[in-house]
Amino acid sequence: MRYSKYFIPTYKETPSEAEVISHKLMLRAGMIRKLTSGIYTYLPLGLRSIRKVENIIREEMDRSGAIEVLMPAVQPAELWQESGRWEAYGRELLRFKDRHNREACFGPTHEEVITDLVRKEIHSYRQMPINFYQIQTKFRDEIRPRFGVMRCREFIMKDAYSFDVDEAAADKSYDVMHQTYSNIFRRCGLKFRAVEADTGSIGGSFSHEFMVLADTGEDEIVFCKKCSYAANLEKAEVKPVEDPGASSAEKAKPLEEVPTPDIKTIEELTAFLSVSADQIVKTLIFSSDGNAVAALIRGDHEVNETKLKNLLGAEQLELAGPELVAHVTGAPIGFAGPVELRVKIIADYAIKGMKNMITGANKQDMHLKNVNIGRDFSVDKFADLRMITPADPCPRCRGPLDFKRGIEVGHVFKLGTKYSKAMHAVYLDEHGEEKLIFMGCYGIGVGRTVAAAIEQNNDRDGIIFPITIAPFEVVILPLQMQNSNVGQVSEELYRSLSDKGVDVLLDDRDIRAGIKFKDADLLGTPVRITIGARTLKEAKVEMKLRSQTQTIFIPVSEAPGFIADKVRELHDSIK
Ligand code: ATP
Ligand code: MG
Repeated sequence: MRYSKYFIPTYKETPSEAEVISHKLMLRAGMIRKLTSGIYTYLPLGLRSIRKVENIIREEMDRSGAIEVLMPAVQPAELWQESGRWEAYGRELLRFKDRHNREACFGPTHEEVITDLVRKEIHSYRQMPINFYQIQTKFRDEIRPRFGVMRCREFIMKDAYSFDVDEAAADKSYDVMHQTYSNIFRRCGLKFRAVEADTGSIGGSFSHEFMVLADTGEDEIVFCKKCSYAANLEKAEVKPVEDPGASSAEKAKPLEEVPTPDIKTIEELTAFLSVSADQIVKTLIFSSDGNAVAALIRGDHEVNETKLKNLLGAEQLELAGPELVAHVTGAPIGFAGPVELRVKIIADYAIKGMKNMITGANKQDMHLKNVNIGRDFSVDKFADLRMITPADPCPRCRGPLDFKRGIEVGHVFKLGTKYSKAMHAVYLDEHGEEKLIFMGCYGIGVGRTVAAAIEQNNDRDGIIFPITIAPFEVVILPLQMQNSNVGQVSEELYRSLSDKGVDVLLDDRDIRAGIKFKDADLLGTPVRITIGARTLKEAKVEMKLRSQTQTIFIPVSEAPGFIADKVRELHDSIK
């Protein structure tokens, strides 16, 4: 490609609308432009990266035995009503009506559509296992689109759906996809980890997220430093402490009311009463599908709403507003307590061994001291309700934990029979018996993968693309295009590298060399070849890798072969 005939509108300045580095660099490098909130155009350079990621995905999916299809973006409401998600999916689902007043949505995911296809086309155990995938545009009306194409509303996803005769076979399909995803992200040059994750609104029983490690990631992940345990923070299990410690040996003291005027936070309460946070129990009132539920959690712990939501089997869970809190506790927010509370009480395991705790008194500006389970209130259920902390041991091996941030680029789910049951997708087994199909589903955010790669590979000057997903592999930078020798050598090298199948960008613009260098760094092209009158006197060109500082000089006559080999070597180092 000739730069002068191409379209790479770069910015010198950092756009103020962008918060994270990948977003800034994608705008500055002329890869994307915003149309409106969460909706972007991929400019030519961005599209080249997208296509490279798609090609890697296609190669690995095909190799795994999955079969490519392309489903519609617009989906009829009836299918979503059948699966129960028309109600459950919430406001991320973009719904609309056609001219006949028929309801439809723009697909945020395709479980319903593929299950409908499979129930019509797959009838025998002989037709399985089968895995269909597509690379297609999704729409999710995200509440807070941000970080450019990392979290947008319209985005390209690779989604795949596996169909199997039973759970054991479905587990195999899941493992194949898990391996395939590892291959894909490795080939994209990413540093990533697969972590245990919650299954969210897609449903199902088990899942792993593929996380690209980056400080700006929206997800927090926890790893064991000793064993292989890794999980999304919202999923990470906290095992109940077997030895509740000294507090359980304490004698129960008489219940006492203490005035706590204007005390709202745990910090204020610990200071006011001169106690530590682990002597306090927080009572959080939630609205679970409209019903009030109380969650008890130790003062120094945080409730994990995902765990609570899963435990309750709730579709919607949110902290109760002032009205509901006043209705169930008789007091404003901040004074709820378990004593004489007439709602279901779920307590975190850490509460179990506690004695003489401090709780709210269900009265404004009042707390209770020496509250004891059994004597003063009872718990409906003890459960793991809290966020894991650095003080907790690994739930598998009790080893020490490490916390990092990550960007979710892929997600694999075991769905079981959730959709086949709801939508009656069945097959006949070898005895002619009708059985439910077992499903799995698997997603990769294509745009997010490019953004995550940039988030992980950049420096002060711009992007440092892994060669496998770089828009161009080599940039040729003639310093003085008007110098006929420079022009000729550059043109010849451009032609011979292109003939060898290398993606080359020839910066043939008639501008200052300084600008060309700056743009080359910004675009992150892995191999830069500089051609100037000075080095040509010795019949040499200069090569520099974007990821390194040193330069080397190559004889003009050997340049095409040498550079093509270098490109191959860079590819091989990623495989
Ligand atoms: P998140 O937790 O980040 O919202 P999700 O769990 O909703 O993601 P999935 O339903 O698992 O996402 O979708 C599969 C993949 O699609 C994700 O792993 C991610 O890479 C990508 N993806 C999801 N939502 C977005 C979005 N709003 N913008 C860009 N990519 C997205
Ligand atoms: Mg997810």
